[in-house]
Amino acid sequence: MIKGSVGLVTTQYYLHSSPLELESGETLPLFTLAYETYGTLNKEASNAILLCHALSGDAHAAGFHAGDEKPGWWDSVIGPGKAFDTDKYFVICSNVIGGCKGSTGPSSENPETGEPYGIAFPVITIRDMVNAQKLLVEQLGINLLYAVAGGSMGGMQVLQWTVSWPKHASKAIVIAATAYSTPQQIAFNEVGRIAITSDPAWENGDYYQQKSYDSNGPFQGLALARMVGHITYLSNESMHEKFGRALQDKDRIGYNFSTDFAVESYLHHQGDTFTHRFDANSYLYITKAIDYFDLTKDGSLRKGLAGVNAAFLVISVSSDWLYPPYQSQEIVSALAANDREVRYSEIQSNFGHDAFLLESGQINYLISQFLSKTIVGDVMIRDVPTIEEGATTAVTARRLINLEVNHLPVLSCSGQLVGIVTSWDIAKAVAKNFLWLDEIMSKNVITTVPDEPIESAAKKMEEHSISALPVIDEDQHLIGLITSDAISTLIGRSNS
Ligand code: SAM
Repeated sequence: MIKGSVGLVTTQYYLHSSPLELESGETLPLFTLAYETYGTLNKEASNAILLCHALSGDAHAAGFHAGDEKPGWWDSVIGPGKAFDTDKYFVICSNVIGGCKGSTGPSSENPETGEPYGIAFPVITIRDMVNAQKLLVEQLGINLLYAVAGGSMGGMQVLQWTVSWPKHASKAIVIAATAYSTPQQIAFNEVGRIAITSDPAWENGDYYQQKSYDSNGPFQGLALARMVGHITYLSNESMHEKFGRALQDKDRIGYNFSTDFAVESYLHHQGDTFTHRFDANSYLYITKAIDYFDLTKDGSLRKGLAGVNAAFLVISVSSDWLYPPYQSQEIVSALAANDREVRYSEIQSNFGHDAFLLESGQINYLISQFLSKTIVGDVMIRDVPTIEEGATTAVTARRLINLEVNHLPVLSCSGQLVGIVTSWDIAKAVAKNFLWLDEIMSKNVITTVPDEPIESAAKKMEEHSISALPVIDEDQHLIGLITSDAISTLIGRSNS
């Protein structure tokens, strides 16, 4: 096996043989979802990460299909030791309904007619795609996803997951995406669709002779749609760097309408190869789903995201003009306004929108930092020395000295936390001649819980000028202690 690779993989298929209600009000009588998995699901089913793909992506995100030389589309971040570390996580990548990569879409057989659906296929939305994925995830025995992640249209699915299924994903990674399609984005998609539907070979969507989309169809229109789309995935800078004004296979401009420039030839190639791997009708359906995507409520994204629970990592790309950084910042502001946990990073890159697939160094770093985020429960001391309520200051002092600790949580006879005492309080007892613990202990104890992020616990200590936080459960019982020393050691370790 190649180091860092998940090696040989195969696509699997989930058949859901009962109807799926769609956002439009229509029903899909049954559907298949193509998916791949990498890594192992743990016995608690708590380490699953769902990856969502972009417009023309598929379920093959990592590793190699037998005989292939090219790995899956996000192989740079999936595998042992990579951001989506398959030694730790069970990674699932699901294709979308409406697509043409093994999942049910317009090129699939309509069970009512026995013929391909064509444009009889119901219009689907990002919400429908996510609802189909939820059924797949359930079927895999997973109730709560550790994370859901994706870029571009994959990022829209991630956002939709957190809105539609807020209790079923703990973390969300949204890259180079938006919470609603803008008129400019809709406009580019419409140019693509018109290119397809105005190709005479489109035949009103009914071009599936031999039940296949790669032998017939509106290839010219689809190629043109892809050419326009592809321009939006690049940036002015990256096009300058890649092509400049270089000529293609000639020394001087031709003064005719043949291909002059390298960039023209590149786009022709992109358009042409796309027609061999994608269905024109799927392009229509999926771009429509993108256009309809809008998570605002009454014009407010804050309201639209009010019900989400996940902790978010939002990443934008400095040179992305298709989903510019301001759209990611709107997501971040809406989440912050709802008091949701969110981290934001703008990747510095000239690659444009495609940087989410190409900047693997920055993406690997940001995602692994986010996923491996430490919580209080990971670093707390569990066997905490304590003192019982009602003790004398002398007994308390002796215990602090004998056990060589600075903090003693004070417990009631039923084991509940009622105070905390430190060596600083003992000094006060000596100075003021206090005999009883009750006179010196702090009664308004600042506490934490096991799943509080470590940064937030550290901030609490700093704000209150204290160096320890008792960790409690919902019944006020002490389950651990976290100290600023332990946190400093941890931060030192991660920086080294
Ligand atoms: N940095 C030292 C410390 O944390 O003990 C000394 C400064 S602080 C002003 C000392 C006071 O904070 C003591 O009275 C102690 O009982 C109190 N204290 C320590 N941890 C506490 C906590 N988690 N909640 C409330 N009070 C706390």
